[in-house]
Amino acid sequence: MAKMVELVAEKHVEYIVSVEKKKDAFESVVMEHLRMNGAYWGLTTLDLLGKLQVVDQDEVIPWVIQCQHESGGFGGNIGHDPHILYTLSAVQILALFDKLHILDVAAVTNYIVGLQNEDGSFSGDMWGEVDTRFSYIAICCLSLLHQLDKIDVEKAVNYIVRCKNLDGGFGCNPGGESHAGQIFCCVGALAITGCLHHVDKDLLGWWLCERQVKSGGLNGRPEKLPDVCYSWWVLSSLIMIDRVHWIDKEKLANFILDCQDVEKGGISDRPDDAVDIYHTYFGVAGLSHLQYPGVKAIDPAYALPVDVVNRILIGS
Ligand SMILES: [Zn+2]
Repeated sequence: MAKMVELVAEKHVEYIVSVEKKKDAFESVVMEHLRMNGAYWGLTTLDLLGKLQVVDQDEVIPWVIQCQHESGGFGGNIGHDPHILYTLSAVQILALFDKLHILDVAAVTNYIVGLQNEDGSFSGDMWGEVDTRFSYIAICCLSLLHQLDKIDVEKAVNYIVRCKNLDGGFGCNPGGESHAGQIFCCVGALAITGCLHHVDKDLLGWWLCERQVKSGGLNGRPEKLPDVCYSWWVLSSLIMIDRVHWIDKEKLANFILDCQDVEKGGISDRPDDAVDIYHTYFGVAGLSHLQYPGVKAIDPAYALPVDVVNRILIGS
């Protein structure tokens, strides 16, 4: 029997902290404009591993607040243009640290409300690109802020339903090809709004579990290579529609563990590739969904630890 690789949690914590510190390193330069997303991936991973306290929140929180634009949206870094993608990451970071009360909720809400279009869809920013990813982000963000009633939820849901395909999956707009990332966004938005009855669970569950390839990893579309990040998009969707038992969980866990750099920490997209913070997050989040020992439970719709979501939504 092949030797089981274990999760090198301590190494991953060191890796994440080192990426944050090496501001001039290659990865940080690449990440410069989406530092807010990188911070969310790194910090959520630390929290899932029970190590959020290694971060100095007196450094993180003021930086997050400084990234807020006068429109209410957040940029990827200080002085950058706001986008709904960074706005959700900022809200999620504040949620992790239990700091949502310092946020100008009305300003963030106005920003997101202003991005909803007549047909119910959402644009990502003032330039107007429309994508079901942005529908999910708007709904997730406003739900975390208890402001979901400020948008036209019915229209938002109807738009998502129009993006449903004959294979049970969802695309980025009506007629767009089904893709695991897009499916996560649409199913997540429907889960948060209590509208999962629009999903054909058996049909979609079948499409999703067919994403598992021989190595145990998951791909995002037919004929594509497996990639650790799909552990998150596919598994979360399967959990939300109650079909996660249709995949081989042990094989998937081993695939993720094989993508670790066991010397320096971090997780890559596929075995032996270079690690990055994005795949480190999705790998650990995937293991969380597989109930790997020592990893906290993550909420499949909100992409935050379950205890954080409960604190916000139930107040416990
Ligand atoms: Zn990937």
